[in-house]
Amino acid sequence: MTEPSGGSGQLWVVSAPSGVGKSTILKAVLEQEPELRFSVSRTTRAPRPGEVPGRDYHFISRTEFEAGIGAGRFLEWARVHDQFYGTDRAPIETWLQAGHDVILDIDVQGARQVRAAAPGLLSVFILPPSFAILEQRLRGRGTEAPDQVARRLGVARRELEEVTSYDYLIVNDRLAEAVADCLAVIRAARLTRLRQAERARAFFHLERP
Ligand code: 5GP
Repeated sequence: MTEPSGGSGQLWVVSAPSGVGKSTILKAVLEQEPELRFSVSRTTRAPRPGEVPGRDYHFISRTEFEAGIGAGRFLEWARVHDQFYGTDRAPIETWLQAGHDVILDIDVQGARQVRAAAPGLLSVFILPPSFAILEQRLRGRGTEAPDQVARRLGVARRELEEVTSYDYLIVNDRLAEAVADCLAVIRAARLTRLRQAERARAFFHLERP
């Protein structure tokens, strides 16, 4: 693929084991940074109560998903908890070229694929305060059957082994702090030398190279 960070926006991946509170954190971050764009994934899993098609996910059939793979529509895709999840390539390239920072909420397998395809990627891993607290949160959420909870905990253990591949680690102990940390890294990345060079060029009305 063409490198997605070729435009002036920054591509972000945010991963976390199921139950860490990533969706809640990202919702707050997106509310406070209206220029950010969130990539709505396609999935074969059923909607959970309260989830809105097109806002949380595009819910599609296995056949449609496989057709999407064949047509090369996905920047990355993975099988997670026995369901398929994939990121549409087209909107991401459009947003990045328009200068928006883009967030992908994807799992560790997807992050690996995007890291390989987009060297400018920045990644955030959100950790629970402890594994015991993650277990409590997942059981308390009550959205999965007990065998699903056990399966998600097994996956979480393996995902936690990948934290060292990520650029930033944020612990979701207190929600407000985790949101502030997430906003801090996104804002700090906008101030790096590389991205400032673009702003400096615009400031001095210099020609782009
Ligand atoms: P959930 O079913 O709880 O919404 O999501 C399960 C996992 O799938 C989460 O770790 C979430 O980040 C991941 N996920 C959601 N969308 C995508 C996607 O498009 N690609 C990949 N690789 N993972 C995704």
